[in-house]
Amino acid sequence: MIIVMEPKATKEEIDVVKNNLEKKGFKIVLNHGDVMTVIAAIGDKRLVDPASIASFEGVRSVKLIQEPYKLASREGKEEDTVIEFPNGVKIGGLERPVMMVGPCSVEKDFNGLLRVAVAAREMGCQFLRGGAFKPRTSPYEFQGLEEKALEYLAMAREKTGLLVVTEVMDTADVPMVEDYADVVQIGARNMQNFKLLKAVGKCDKPVLLKRGGAATIREFLLAAEHIMCNGNEKVILCERGIKSFDSTFTRNTLDLAAIPIIKKYSHLPIIADPSHGTGRRYLIEPMAKAALVAGANGLMIEVHHDPENASSDGAQSLSIQQFKDMQKRINKLIGRIDYDNQQLKG
Ligand code: PEP
Ligand code: MN
Repeated sequence: MIIVMEPKATKEEIDVVKNNLEKKGFKIVLNHGDVMTVIAAIGDKRLVDPASIASFEGVRSVKLIQEPYKLASREGKEEDTVIEFPNGVKIGGLERPVMMVGPCSVEKDFNGLLRVAVAAREMGCQFLRGGAFKPRTSPYEFQGLEEKALEYLAMAREKTGLLVVTEVMDTADVPMVEDYADVVQIGARNMQNFKLLKAVGKCDKPVLLKRGGAATIREFLLAAEHIMCNGNEKVILCERGIKSFDSTFTRNTLDLAAIPIIKKYSHLPIIADPSHGTGRRYLIEPMAKAALVAGANGLMIEVHHDPENASSDGAQSLSIQQFKDMQKRINKLIGRIDYDNQQLKG
């Protein structure tokens, strides 16, 4: 941590900062320049709140050198985390990107879900997604079929062999969702529900953590840290768009730069969700391709057997035929990505 003192800071003010940090175990190196003094504090900065140091008299600014997340950070673990499922599917590192597809919500029509799952299998996808507990902005919108939906997902897994990804919204439901799911999803709205993060941190199943709509990358990685420090290091991150000033053409702004940034600062796998990231069907394919080229370890895409009549998010869902057409092109693109050199082959 680097503390820059004001040019007018007194010796007493500098000593207060120095003594405070020394008491917390930091080694202090003082640099008295012509204009101002700079204090370098060497030690585990997780033991102090930088904002509190910044509030000391005579302090101009505090700059962190070490990232505040530890388990999620590349500083702590250099090699990529690769999560392997019992059926051999792997996600992370240089593994082939995975596809998670399915309806926003699991609905009463099991056959509709099954048709999507069969198409996903046919196209080489690995995961079926579908919401049983739905975090809806309005309380009057469809809230999800809860356990019935989990049963449907398990039935579709039985028939297709796809792994199931589904969201949990409440700590009380974690044991039930974990029982049915292969990956437990934490939605964007719950990215900072710390009790829920702690509860899934105690799960055995991998967790798909979606970035909050207004979360910084640091907050996103710290949310992952909450899960990891409770014992579950199998975290898959998901960039799903953030709020920006312009929602004329898109629901959210898919932050594609977050993908290489997270790869630089974390060893965890990261996937992209261009459905929620854009809110528009026609933007799914271009953003999906861009995310893959940017290094995403997978994609989450909403696909519905009848998007015009979907209970939720129809506008950002592909029909089965649209999905198949897109997936052919996506599979071709995946085959051409040279991850070692971050470019397309041929
Ligand atoms: C979802 O994946 O169904 C969902 C609700 O997404 P998000 O939490 O990203 O809005
Ligand atoms: Mn949705």
